Amino acid sequence: MSAVRAADKRIYNRPIKFVSLAGGREIGRHSHYLSIGKLKILVDPGVQANGHARPIDVKDLHGLNFIFLTHAHLDHIGSLIDVMLVNPHTRVCATRATRALASIILKKSNLTRGRYSEEEIDRCINRIKTVHCEEEIHMGKGIYARFIDAGHILGSASIVICAPEGNIMITGDFATEDRGVLFPFRRPDMDLRALITEGSLVGLSMPSAARERDSFMSHLRGNINEDRNVVVAATPLGVFQEYAMLMPQLQQDGLLPSFPIFLNANLREAFKIYLRYYESLALAAKLPKESFAGFMVLEPLDKKVDVSKMSPFCLIAGPSNLKWEFPNGFVRQVIMQGGYLIADNRYTESLIYRRVSRRGKDRIKPEQIMRMCSSNHVTEPDLNSLIDEMRPHKTVFVHGMPRSLRRFARELSGVAMVSRIKEFINL
Ligand SMILES: [Zn+2]
Ligand SMILES: [Zn+2]
Repeated sequence: MSAVRAADKRIYNRPIKFVSLAGGREIGRHSHYLSIGKLKILVDPGVQANGHARPIDVKDLHGLNFIFLTHAHLDHIGSLIDVMLVNPHTRVCATRATRALASIILKKSNLTRGRYSEEEIDRCINRIKTVHCEEEIHMGKGIYARFIDAGHILGSASIVICAPEGNIMITGDFATEDRGVLFPFRRPDMDLRALITEGSLVGLSMPSAARERDSFMSHLRGNINEDRNVVVAATPLGVFQEYAMLMPQLQQDGLLPSFPIFLNANLREAFKIYLRYYESLALAAKLPKESFAGFMVLEPLDKKVDVSKMSPFCLIAGPSNLKWEFPNGFVRQVIMQGGYLIADNRYTESLIYRRVSRRGKDRIKPEQIMRMCSSNHVTEPDLNSLIDEMRPHKTVFVHGMPRSLRRFARELSGVAMVSRIKEFINL
């Protein structure tokens, strides 16, 4: 008996250490190291940034036992290839959709393009083991992990690691509000020894995501009904892409008139994957996949296409910054003929004018442009209620604005802290 107890004691008292490798104090960088005894886990090989993003330092990241990916945004997977190449035998886990999206994102990225061939990227992507949400991943030594829906982008997951010493949740980017397309984050019913959470929106007052979506749809409907064409400046894997996925359903339900939906090439790959993994979306329960037949109309909508000969349409065009592959010539034509532009409110009005109008010469009425919030992160009040309901023994903020996070941590009176980059935290 006493020998068993001695063994238990050895297992159950392992030190649990956490280090935020990149961006603990900056928005949008994400890379976390966790060890339980001798087990070494990396969650999200992200990027570091001082001006321009660059891969994280991998020289101390040998001998990892597991790499978990929360989702396919570049700030969370930018160093995946670098980390996998120095850890050739490490098990890498992600949801199916995250794996598919990671492949297109890494092939397009400046961080990998030129440094790695498509074949090298494919070899790494093929090594990723896919997991379903709620599936148990056995990690040995009495420890297992579980991915749960995070409601951020297609495939996004929060990760719960269950050890005899206690449960640790790393949220990744997540959202609790139902936007109608993805399954939102739902808190797991368990005690937490530690919650490692993003707090990107802490300190910002945010409109409700559902209200923003409804306002987006009502502006779209109003303009199409008035025979005005609508352009949405969207980013792949963003909220406006989600809204575009909702349009066929709303058309079928009679909540939007029927109009063609065009996409430009910048968004094509991301949409293809959303449609391929359609059954993993909450939206699939409401509308059969056939309704999407013909949904993606990829047309070379450039300056040569005569807008005046087209019936009212909606063009979803990327990228959202209205630069690079954004079809400015065509969009200028749409606007000059009285069309309407919906853009992200991350971009200022003057920047949008500058990019759409020809050297500021074209006359664009302010009422032709609408800027909207397209956030898919948890808000401060929702994060507050999550912490209040789950009551983790320790909360660590890793992804947000330092000053706001420090204020929020103080308000949580002693149970929360803001992690510094490369600081070892005993959980
Ligand atoms: Zn992020
Ligand atoms: Zn993200």
